[in-house]
Amino acid sequence: MLDLSSPAVLKDLLARYGFTFSKGLGQNFLINPTVCPRMAELGGAAPGVGMLEIGAGIGVLTAELARRADKVVCIEIDSRLLPILDETLAGFTNVRIVNDDVLKVDLPALLAAEFPGQKVAVCANLPYYITSPILMHLLESRLPLSSITVMVQKEAAARLTAEPGSREVGAISIALRYYCVPRVLFPVSRGSFLPSPDVDSTVIRLDILESPAVPVKDEALFFAGVRAAFSQRRKTLLNCVAGYFSLPKSQAAEILAAAGIPENTRAEQLPLDGFGRLADALFDAGVPAKK
Ligand code: SAM
Repeated sequence: MLDLSSPAVLKDLLARYGFTFSKGLGQNFLINPTVCPRMAELGGAAPGVGMLEIGAGIGVLTAELARRADKVVCIEIDSRLLPILDETLAGFTNVRIVNDDVLKVDLPALLAAEFPGQKVAVCANLPYYITSPILMHLLESRLPLSSITVMVQKEAAARLTAEPGSREVGAISIALRYYCVPRVLFPVSRGSFLPSPDVDSTVIRLDILESPAVPVKDEALFFAGVRAAFSQRRKTLLNCVAGYFSLPKSQAAEILAAAGIPENTRAEQLPLDGFGRLADALFDAGVPAKK
């Protein structure tokens, strides 16, 4: 079997198939032999676990997942990679490549067909241009996922795993914590890829909660409240809520008081359950989620 993390093997394959990297599709392929086995192990690839990968590249991570798990389904958008994957993954009978856009494919139907009645773990070196949309799409689709282990840009990892109340926290950190418990696994340097990107990377793992971290009366209002709170970074929640929902300041003040949140609080100071209380106070005041 080919050593897919060898730069020489990668270059030879790409030359033989006349493949050129697409920057637009975030194509930086792993050439550090230690990264994929570690990701596969920490991502939970094991007998009895269904694995979903996003973005196969030449299949370097796919092969490590397939060695450990019963079955791997990988969604890859670039059809130019299909003949290469036919060659590199020829030794595996438990891999299915789906040539599609992960943001467009019917994920609930795909997982129900490929992994009936089974929990699924996601493990992927994500295309960085759509990191947050992919994560939110996976979480919002309410799939039977147990965990998501992904490599992302180092700065994105800091935001995605930021604790409520910390300086790095943003709307995406709070949105993620509604569905899961995030943690940092290990760093990956830019030299681990061909071509080498301008940024370093970090592997993170999101463990999916059985039910949302904060029970709220209206989920859409929870996410609208989060967007509102972070809509004007330096402003107080009073200004953010009034501005985002086009409310008189007096009504925004009443909503914050009902939620037990001091008017001059800033979004980065609010704990997770504070966002839940804000959502319920917006609901009780009859504020619609959409502006
Ligand atoms: N897993 C490989 C590796 O680690 O070497 C490739 C990772 S590369 C960073 C990202 C991969 O995602 C590329 O193969 C790219 O073609 C694919 N990709 C980009 N956008 C995608 C999308 N919307 N849906 C599915 N795959 C996508």
